Amino acid sequence: MFGKSLLLLTLTASILSLQAEDVLKYVDARPGSLPILITVPHGGDLKPANILARRYGVTAKDSNTAELSVMISEELRKLYGGAPHLVICRLHRSKLDCNRELNEAAQGDPVATATWKRFHEAAEGVEQQVTRSFGAGLTIDLHGHRHEEPRVELGYLISGSQLNTSDEALDRDPKYLRLTSVKELDQRSPQSFSALIRGPQSLGALLEAQGFRSIPSPGKPSPGKAVYFSGSYDVAAHGSRDGGSISAIQVECPWNGVRDTSENQRRFAKALATALGDYFKIHFQMTLVPDKSSQPARP
Ligand SMILES: [Zn+2]
Repeated sequence: MFGKSLLLLTLTASILSLQAEDVLKYVDARPGSLPILITVPHGGDLKPANILARRYGVTAKDSNTAELSVMISEELRKLYGGAPHLVICRLHRSKLDCNRELNEAAQGDPVATATWKRFHEAAEGVEQQVTRSFGAGLTIDLHGHRHEEPRVELGYLISGSQLNTSDEALDRDPKYLRLTSVKELDQRSPQSFSALIRGPQSLGALLEAQGFRSIPSPGKPSPGKAVYFSGSYDVAAHGSRDGGSISAIQVECPWNGVRDTSENQRRFAKALATALGDYFKIHFQMTLVPDKSSQPARP
């Protein structure tokens, strides 16, 4: 009797520790030294048989976004001498969606649940570290879309229909500031809210100057009736809408011209890295330099 329950206990313990090891493998967290965090919730390939398939919600992966995040990291390092922090989910979206609240994300599976928690705890750890070292920072939540128009869609938690309003209304009505994932950055930036998200020095404008059509931007301030992704769970959880000084932007990359070939991925990585240096100067009023005290440990 005693022996049986001991065996059961040992078995349970070893299954649990195997699962804990798996969870470490499913979240690829790479420490950096810039005040930038790149989260990649939909770039994973792994479909372990012991995790239940999700029964509802979107289950298609954002192809090549994990590869793209590594290239963006390399280009940032070349330009500014330090890497951003990366948090990549390696599980396929049919098993876990880290860009949704836990119920829809993991749909009750214990390993998927533990992986979701680790993904978001890793991001929160980075946010605390960046806040201590720099006072403020930026989360880029990296995705891919296949909408008809191949533009880079920048999401600030301001919906397409809300973007269809005028600059004056965006700047006058305080409700937009309550909604946005760049709430704290708006206070820091010398520019108005409408200029921050779609003016001549917005991230959209800076990317267009590097050859990548973007929305919102001065030439394309709103989507009209077209489908446009304005951001979801990650930019709400890891931006400044609900407090703190880490703001967040969802960067949705089209397939054609950005994610389709490794040459285009590299071109976009260079463009975004260049744009981010200017963006930090203009809006954070900060020069992008690595934090010397948080250099990643040697392997
Ligand atoms: Zn996505």
